[in-house]
Amino acid sequence: MKKLDNYIGGEWRAPANKKYLDNFEPATGKVYSQLADSDETDLAAAVSAAKESCSAWSKLRVEERVSFIEKIASKIEDRLDEFAKAESIDTGKPLSLAAKIDIPRAISNFRFFASAITQFSSQAHQTDSRAINYTAHSPVGIVGTITPWNLPLYLLSWKVAPALAAGNAVIAKPSEVTPMTATMLAEVINQVGLPKGVFNLIHGLGPKVGQSMAAHPDIRAISFTGGTKTGATIATTVAPLFKKLSLELGGKNPTIIFADSNYEETLEGVIRSSFLNQGQICLCGSRILIQKEIYPKFKADLIRRAGELKIGDPLEKNTDQGAIVSKSHHQKLENAMERAKKEGGKVLVGGKSVKLNGRCQEGWFFAPTLLEGLSNESATNQEEIFGPIVSLIPFKDDAEAIELANATSYGLSASLWTQNINRAHSIAQALQCGVVWVNSWLLRDLRTPFGGMKNSGLGREGGFEAFKFVTEQKNICIRYA
Ligand code: NDP
Repeated sequence: MKKLDNYIGGEWRAPANKKYLDNFEPATGKVYSQLADSDETDLAAAVSAAKESCSAWSKLRVEERVSFIEKIASKIEDRLDEFAKAESIDTGKPLSLAAKIDIPRAISNFRFFASAITQFSSQAHQTDSRAINYTAHSPVGIVGTITPWNLPLYLLSWKVAPALAAGNAVIAKPSEVTPMTATMLAEVINQVGLPKGVFNLIHGLGPKVGQSMAAHPDIRAISFTGGTKTGATIATTVAPLFKKLSLELGGKNPTIIFADSNYEETLEGVIRSSFLNQGQICLCGSRILIQKEIYPKFKADLIRRAGELKIGDPLEKNTDQGAIVSKSHHQKLENAMERAKKEGGKVLVGGKSVKLNGRCQEGWFFAPTLLEGLSNESATNQEEIFGPIVSLIPFKDDAEAIELANATSYGLSASLWTQNINRAHSIAQALQCGVVWVNSWLLRDLRTPFGGMKNSGLGREGGFEAFKFVTEQKNICIRYA
């Protein structure tokens, strides 16, 4: 069975304690590889390797760093099919999705930040006729990245690429549930000859080695994507150390559908934003707000379309819905359904686990589920479920749509469907969240700031925001006669 070791100082290293964790294929429920169960001894080795390398890496000319990062992108592209299959097996997501979105977007992340760093400039301020101020950006040194299981390579590359481009060394901890493509990324990085110690990969458990990363004084920035509770734990650890912290956390995103929207486009958009990756994307809409005039018809069409989604082996071409990422997450979905029913929710379609035959008979599958009859204040409509379970809520007018949309502790994203341009602008401005899509969903431009308000996070990633996070700014004031 394949053993996934750590990659430290340009070498593959078994964990110091020689312990490994099982890695499961969600579609079959079977263990198919093992990963290092690292602890602080391994982390100390990674920190020491990163420390040794970061000064020389930061002093390379930008073009030299860019050349390494472009090579990383090209090597992943050469192995796109292999990466996509590995991501599908590790997460349970349809192979078609990994091949169309996860891996191409990971490649784009490396290419984008390689190009963007060449355009990153500092500000200068003339102070009357007495002095000039300019802002210098220097890399923070060692950046720690902690990433979740839903978009493993995509989110890892989103953090690693800007950190490397800006001249930092990186220590990356992927989710213990999905370690495979991070290991393949380390293989690629090894192949392109990135200086030893500039990129280090540590596998293991969040509360153990992830927590040690947050607590390590020499890791000067932590870029975290994951659940809000975990984000709060990390923030508590990091605060007294005064290190930089970026938190991309959970959401309970509203999808707002007006009677004046383009009906067919909206229907397909909402099916996608509700159930892509089995609803396991932080940006998925889980509260579907529908204007009363079209509620009965839209509901009927949603039920039909959700029922048509093919649940199947993620490796098969025509599968729309793959497996849920882990047994424990699958159990969480079953618990969420129990709670929804207790709260008075009516199941319109789905609502239960699905058993497949053959290779996937022991896999963790769950039917795309539509609920109705739950108030916006119910736990089902307030707590993140992170699966293919969404709730329909009718609304009367713009004011009620805004009130319902904002009545949550989260503020990550929203999607809004209307053909009225005035309504689109005024509602988008009123929504309390970091990202608003109008007549679209998941349409990304890597130059834009990305992140959430309220309990959905702290700070912004993307574009130059990412470089500001992984660098320290210093203002230099020069007086002249
Ligand atoms: P978790 O918060 O459980 O885990 C995220 C990462 O943090 C994992 O690598 C995990 O390791 C690690 N971790 C867990 N506990 C600690 C700790 N005490 N200290 C340091 N690291 C720790 O999230 P999930 O993996 O379950 O991912 C789903 C969540 O991610 C959802 O809430 C979703 O909304 C959010 N998310 C947010 C996005 C955004 O951009 N805002 C994008 C994608 C997801 P391990 O796996 O070993 O526990």
